[in-house]
Amino acid sequence: MPDSHLPPVEDLLSVAVNAVGGSERQGQITMVKAVQRAIDEEEHLAVQAGTGTGKSLAYLVPSIRHAMASDTTVVVSTATIALQRQLVDRDLPRLAEALSKELPHEPSFAILKGRRNYLCRYKATAGWPEEDEQDQLFDPREVSATGRMVQRIQEWAEETETGDRDELVPGVSEQAWRQFSVSAQECLGAARCPSGAECFAELARARAGESDVVVTNHALLAIDAMGDIPVLPEHDMVVVDEAHELVDRVTSVATGELSEGSVALAVRRVGRLIEQPIADQLMEAGEDLKALLAAAPDGRIDELPQVLGLTLALIRDTSARCVTALGPRGADKDDPDRAGQRKAAFTALDEVHDAAVRMLEAYGHASEADRAEVVWLEAGTDRRPPMLRVAPLNVGGMLRDKLFGERTVVLTSATLALGGTFDGMARQWGLGEKGWQGIDVGSPFDHPRAGILYVAKHLPQPGRDGLPQQYLDEIVELIEAAGGRTLGLFSSMRAAKAATEALRDRLTVPLLCQGDDSTMLLVKQFAEDESTCLFGTLSLWQGVDVPGPSLRLVIIDRVPFPRPDDPLTSARQRHVAAKGGNGFMTVAATHAALLLAQGTGRLLRAQHDKGVIAVLDPRLATARYSGFLLGSLPPFWRTTDPAIPRAALKRLTTED
Ligand code: SF4
Repeated sequence: MPDSHLPPVEDLLSVAVNAVGGSERQGQITMVKAVQRAIDEEEHLAVQAGTGTGKSLAYLVPSIRHAMASDTTVVVSTATIALQRQLVDRDLPRLAEALSKELPHEPSFAILKGRRNYLCRYKATAGWPEEDEQDQLFDPREVSATGRMVQRIQEWAEETETGDRDELVPGVSEQAWRQFSVSAQECLGAARCPSGAECFAELARARAGESDVVVTNHALLAIDAMGDIPVLPEHDMVVVDEAHELVDRVTSVATGELSEGSVALAVRRVGRLIEQPIADQLMEAGEDLKALLAAAPDGRIDELPQVLGLTLALIRDTSARCVTALGPRGADKDDPDRAGQRKAAFTALDEVHDAAVRMLEAYGHASEADRAEVVWLEAGTDRRPPMLRVAPLNVGGMLRDKLFGERTVVLTSATLALGGTFDGMARQWGLGEKGWQGIDVGSPFDHPRAGILYVAKHLPQPGRDGLPQQYLDEIVELIEAAGGRTLGLFSSMRAAKAATEALRDRLTVPLLCQGDDSTMLLVKQFAEDESTCLFGTLSLWQGVDVPGPSLRLVIIDRVPFPRPDDPLTSARQRHVAAKGGNGFMTVAATHAALLLAQGTGRLLRAQHDKGVIAVLDPRLATARYSGFLLGSLPPFWRTTDPAIPRAALKRLTTED
C-alpha cells in the first residue's frame, strides 16, 4: 500500500497515546517525526531520549506504519529481557489494538530468539550424542540439582506451546538446558529433521516472518548480520533500543573461546565417528593445552609464547584432520541419528579449529596499530577450567558493512550523547561523518529542579585498598539524612560487600546487598519497604527502575572506569593510542561516562521524583576529564558543598 494512503505518523501517535491513557509529550512527538524522516530518507538515526519520553511508542508507531506501507517486517532489538517483555507483553498489544481501526489490518508482532532458547523436540525425544552428560560435574549436589531440573524440563516439554526457555520459572541451569537444546550450527535443518514440522524454533521463525514487527535481542541481530545464513525475516529497517549496549553484545557474539573442555568435547563427539588414532591426536593436543594454561598467568597475551603458538597450531591441524576424516558435510541424509551426531561433531570441531586459527592470526601483525584482535587467558574457577579468548578490537567495521550497509537503522537509548555529542558512539558503531543524524529529544523531567548532583570534592581520591574511612562516614551521614531510601552503586562487588559489612551495624535502617538473594527479589524488597537501602554493582547501575519515595538518594563510590587489567578494554585503549588517538578518552572515559549516565539515571524515574546523587570520588569535580563526564549527565543542579545535599535530603524526608 502506498505510504500516502496511511494516516500521518503524528495522527497515529496521538491515537496510540490516547488509547494507553497518556498525554502528548514534546520529546515523543519530536522523536516520532525524526524516525519517520529517517525511514523516508533511508538515513540512520541516533536518538537520545531520556526516561519518561515514551520512546517505545515513538519508534513503534512509525515502524508499524512502515511495515504496512512496504509490506515488510521491521526488526526491534533490545539488550535486556525486561525490555523485550515490556514490548511484547505490554506496549505492542496495546498499540496493536489502538491502531487496528486506523490501519488496513491489526498490526501483528512476534518475538524471536536464538535457536538455543527453544526446546529442540528432536533432541528431547530422540536423544542426541550422549556427550553432554559427561561434562564435568564433580559435586554430587550439583549432579542431583541438574537431575531435578532435567526432570522438570521433561515434564514442561510435554505441555509447552512455545518451547521458549524463558517460560520455565524458576529458570534452569545451562547444564540442564543444554540437554534439550541445540545451537543453530548443530540443528539438522527442518527439512531433514524428523521433528522439523513441529520444531519450536522453526514455528517461531515462521510467525516472525508473517509479522509486522519482530522483537529480538542484540545477539541475534548480530548473528543475522554477521552470518551467511539469515536468521531473521527479511527486513529493511531495524530499531536498536538500549543501543548503548550494542557494541558489547556484538563483541560477545564475535568472541571465540578455546579450553581443554572445548577440545575434549570435540574429541568425544568425533571419537565414535572416525578412526581412533586421528581423534587421539586432537586429544593429545588438548592435553598439551591443559598443561600450558594451568601454568600460565591470566590476563592479556600481547606476544604469543612460542610453545603456546605450537600448541595452537597443533590444535588447528589435528582438528582439521578430524574434519577431513568425518567426510563430506551433509552426508547421512537418510539417517537422522547419524546426521545429528556428525553435525554435533562438525560444530565442536569447527569451534575449536576457528578459535585456534583466529588466535594465531591475531599475532600476524608486529605493529599494535595493525592488529585486529586481542587474545587473553581467563583464569579457571571451581566449575570450569582456564580458557583462552579472542575478541575483535573494533566491531565498527563489521557493523558498518553488515548492519548499516544493508538497511535503515534507528538507534536509541537514554544515554548516547557522551560529553554532549554522538560522535563517540557513532565511531564505535562504525558510522562515518555522513549518512546519519543524531538528536537529543530531552527528557520530560526538570533535572535542575528535581535533582542535585553532589560531588564530594573534599574526600580523598579512591585508592586500591578498599573504601577509605571518610567514604564510609559520608555514606552514613547521607543515608541518615535521607531516612534510608538509598541505592548504593559501587564500582565492584568487593566494594559493595565491604561497605555493607562496615555499615550494617552503624545504620538504623535495613541494608540489603546484591548477592544476598536474587537481584530481582532484592530490588522488589527495596521498592516495597521505603526505609530500606540497597547496595550493589554493575547490573544495578542499569537495571533498577524504582519510582517514588523508596529511592531518594543514589550514592556512587567512584568514577566507573574499566579495571586497568581488563584485557579487552585495556587492549582497545592501547590500540587507539597506537593509531595516534587518545586511548584513555576514547575507551576508558567513554566507558565511565556511559555507566555514570546510566547510574545517575536511576534517580528520576517518574514525573514527581526528586532527590540527590552523591558521587564520593572527587575526580568528578577536579580531574581534567571531568568536563567530559559531567557533559554526559543530565543537567542536575550541581554542588560540592556537603551541607546542601544533607539539608535537601532532610527536607525531602519531611515532605514525603
Ligand atoms: S529442526 Fe533443529 S531445532 Fe528443530 S527439532 Fe530439529 S534439530 Fe531440533
